[in-house]
Amino acid sequence: MNQGRLLYVGKAKSVYRTDKKDELIVEFRDDITAFDGGKKDTLKSKGSYNATVSAFFFEYLEKHGVKTHYLRMLDERRMAVRTLSMIPLEVIVRNVAAGSIVRNYPFREGTRLDPSVIVIDFKDDSRHDPMLNDDLIVALKLATPQELKKIKKISLEINRLLSALLAKQGILLVDFKIEFGRQGKTIRLGDEISMDSMRLWDKVTKESLDKDVYRFNKGDVMATYNRVSRRITGAAARPAAAKKKAAVQKKGRVSLRTAAQPKAKKR
Ligand code: C5P
Repeated sequence: MNQGRLLYVGKAKSVYRTDKKDELIVEFRDDITAFDGGKKDTLKSKGSYNATVSAFFFEYLEKHGVKTHYLRMLDERRMAVRTLSMIPLEVIVRNVAAGSIVRNYPFREGTRLDPSVIVIDFKDDSRHDPMLNDDLIVALKLATPQELKKIKKISLEINRLLSALLAKQGILLVDFKIEFGRQGKTIRLGDEISMDSMRLWDKVTKESLDKDVYRFNKGDVMATYNRVSRRITGAAARPAAAKKKAAVQKKGRVSLRTAAQPKAKKR
């Protein structure tokens, strides 16, 4: 498969056509932004950390029956995906109050939200992604009521699967944002699931393990992304598995567990 012309440039990813109509390439760049693009930087290896974690989650979700756009990794930062017609919704699932809902509503940070809260924003930078409700989504013809029901059901299933997976690594899934697209009549999870799009806290210390480290200057972002990506994918805990993966990588395929740490410092 050959990389074709550039189709779309987002804040941290670029999307390319390929010689196959139904496949695209997503490139995870080293750019990081926050506050609606108000804060911007380029951090070496950031793209590969996010690509690896995203691929790991997509593979895990697919294995558990969630349809995604993910096909395979091409190298440490480029992912082959199915071509989707993206739905301009940002679906945010919240398990613990943090971020904008603490700023906008009388929640105390850290309060458990049970049941989990789904918030859906309109993906439109020019309008600063305003929050929608079901009636607005249908009136704007962004999704049918049936599609919306399905999107919410899949989002809660993703939440259930990822919360349980992360809990095993001592990580609390506070909240995350996902996006969906259509492939014919099938709704698939698209975009990415990474430290840029999730809020992750250490279960014991409540330390931030995600983009909040960058947003609020809480420390060394790349050291955090390095540590958390290893923790999520289990790379550090399984050196034998990582070695086996590296051998596969030599044969031309990319190791998901090792690709995130191309020049990782020894700890
Ligand atoms: O800022 P807020 O609290 O609404 O973000 C909720 C979650 O959605 C966070 O995990 C954040 O990283 C993610 N998010 C995102 N992209 C956006 C808005 C929020 O990934 N445009």
